[in-house]
Amino acid sequence: MTERTILHVDLDAFFAAVEQRDRPELRGRPVVVGGGTPDQRGVVSAASYEARRFGIHSAMPLRTAGALCPDAVFLPVDGRKYQAVSREVMTILRRYTPLVEPISIDEAFLDVTASRALFGDGPAMGRAIRAAILAEVQLTASVGVASTKLVAKIASDLRKPDALVVVEPGSEAAFLAPLPIQRLWGVGERTAAALAELGVTTMGELADLPVDLLVRRFGRHGATLADRARGLDDDPVGDGGPVKSISHEHTFDVDTNDPALIDKTLLAMADGVAGRLRSAGLRAATVHVKVRDSAFRTITRQRTLAEPTDLAEPIWRTALELARPEMRGIHVRLLGVGTSGFAEREQLTLFEEDAAGEGGRRRKATEAADAVRRRFGDRAVTRARLLGSGLPAPFERDPMKPLERRTGMNDSNPDR
Ligand SMILES: [Mg+2]
Repeated sequence: MTERTILHVDLDAFFAAVEQRDRPELRGRPVVVGGGTPDQRGVVSAASYEARRFGIHSAMPLRTAGALCPDAVFLPVDGRKYQAVSREVMTILRRYTPLVEPISIDEAFLDVTASRALFGDGPAMGRAIRAAILAEVQLTASVGVASTKLVAKIASDLRKPDALVVVEPGSEAAFLAPLPIQRLWGVGERTAAALAELGVTTMGELADLPVDLLVRRFGRHGATLADRARGLDDDPVGDGGPVKSISHEHTFDVDTNDPALIDKTLLAMADGVAGRLRSAGLRAATVHVKVRDSAFRTITRQRTLAEPTDLAEPIWRTALELARPEMRGIHVRLLGVGTSGFAEREQLTLFEEDAAGEGGRRRKATEAADAVRRRFGDRAVTRARLLGSGLPAPFERDPMKPLERRTGMNDSNPDR
């Protein structure tokens, strides 16, 4: 098999860098994006590198940031502008390969294996991409070049900002060995603490542990950890083609086996997916669910409906039927509801229910709710079932916060 060449491209301090680009007087100054003033409620969305020197980082309360650096410039989040810049950057990336998988507003994986004949090797493409982003968008990006997504992502982060880090094929394990295990996907606080009890703080020490010991201690997740510590990861780069599926995912703050919470979460996601289908003028023939447990085992199930739909109810019922048998005896970490097999609504008018019947009434009510949502936002229409659930309704889409990265990396991006 050909050795893959994967790039991970990550813009440096993205939101703050865009503001400094557009307002030269802010260059060289500590800039905090998130809220207009330090006494506002809320958290830091992004901090310039100058602000980071004061210990300010993303997700920190704005008040704390204001106390650490009273002279910092606090700016509101200009989501529309960042989205536009993000699109420009993604367009640059797609010149080098159609296999671009954006994983958040400011970072993406590229599989450039097939592009090497055209553009040179991975490091050459990394340099060209960094130069193009600087010349055309006036921003710096850090790029990791490696044979896997995992190693490319760790590499891009290693010498930020404005860096290119290349990990030659065959040297992945040696590259990872000295790094702290917290940099590995799937190592949260609890896993790190459990590994520390085994005397493991670096990836090299993790790789040296016998796999069967890790499996005894962590279940199947242990085997995954052992692979990752060696740089093994065959996760493919998604192709970013036309939308073939619409899905929502939700990661619970605390793994759960509470059936009521699970039902409500599935309903919220089905509602969100159905709303997106309707606004795209699509109906879906197939419903998918994804269930990930506390040991990171992921199960997916799907079923084709008797009739394509764009309504929450049938999507929810199908998702429940598919998910329930998979959730016995496990604690659920992540749930996903998706749909595929699209047909445009216009082509389906033959299936349209009698407008006077029950289905017609439900559709009218649904369309009215959609109109209210478009006008006043998702929060304006919330199903009675979801009220009081204490859940942030997962269908509320904050444009700055992708619901879930498809790679399964749920860690917040510290470098936005
Ligand atoms: Mg970034």
